Amino acid sequence: MKVRCWGARGSIPVSGPEYDRYGGDTTCIEIRSKNDALLVIDAGTGIRRLGCQLTEQGRLDLTLLFTHTHWDHVLGLPFFKPLYNPKARIKLYGSPGLQGNIMKLLARVMAPPLFPVPFTALPSKIEGLAWQGESLQLDTLRITRIALSHPNLGAGYRIEEDGKSFVFLTDNELSHHHRGGRSFDEYAAFCQGADLLVHDAEYTPEEYAERRGWGHSDIIDAAKLAKAAGVKVLGLFHHNQERRDEGVDELVRRCREVLSGPGPVPDCLALTQHSSFDL
Ligand SMILES: [Zn+2]
Ligand SMILES: [Zn+2]
Repeated sequence: MKVRCWGARGSIPVSGPEYDRYGGDTTCIEIRSKNDALLVIDAGTGIRRLGCQLTEQGRLDLTLLFTHTHWDHVLGLPFFKPLYNPKARIKLYGSPGLQGNIMKLLARVMAPPLFPVPFTALPSKIEGLAWQGESLQLDTLRITRIALSHPNLGAGYRIEEDGKSFVFLTDNELSHHHRGGRSFDEYAAFCQGADLLVHDAEYTPEEYAERRGWGHSDIIDAAKLAKAAGVKVLGLFHHNQERRDEGVDELVRRCREVLSGPGPVPDCLALTQHSSFDL
């Protein structure tokens, strides 16, 4: 499978030369199966550029999953071009049992007077589907989920194909229990042996001490999870809006130090809004 990041920033989009390398767009991840089935997770501002590319490619069918509906994960949806194409077919899954009906949630966000075009009046064919059973199968991709430890709930995802696995856990606070959240050991089991784990690593330990309970992890906890789960690559994600490029580099450097103890050492990098991976 191919994994492509279109936005790695958290909370609010940012712009300026200080954010040049890691980018300012918020959460959006594209996953393609070996047969080119298209799965998108979250509609942060990064989804705008993905929508432009899909339109250029004439790509009209996709499945869209959401981790949760905080602003930074839905903000780009009104500017996702396929929504306005009558030939586009979009299957939509929320986090049933966690955040409620995704169609109703999006209809609340994308509605006058907040936005002129109501979600319920879009020309594309949008199908709101219920997640049935333990896993979801999309072409050759098998998708499982786990509840996030985050205010207002949410879901993290594991996507597998031909023995390769990608785990996406953003907006997940490992050292604080939010309602519905799981234990560290349960997250470690969910991430076990992943080829790529992309995890929330918004804070330094010093910053985290002042922001406990805000719903995000520090780099040390993200590194401990990667190590405990024996993942091959850890991708730091949900970069703080104040974090300049050099600051993100520093997070990677510190994270590598933590990872370099005894046992297999996962590789560590920070996602940019152009990162792509062939798994
Ligand atoms: Zn977020
Ligand atoms: Zn959130």
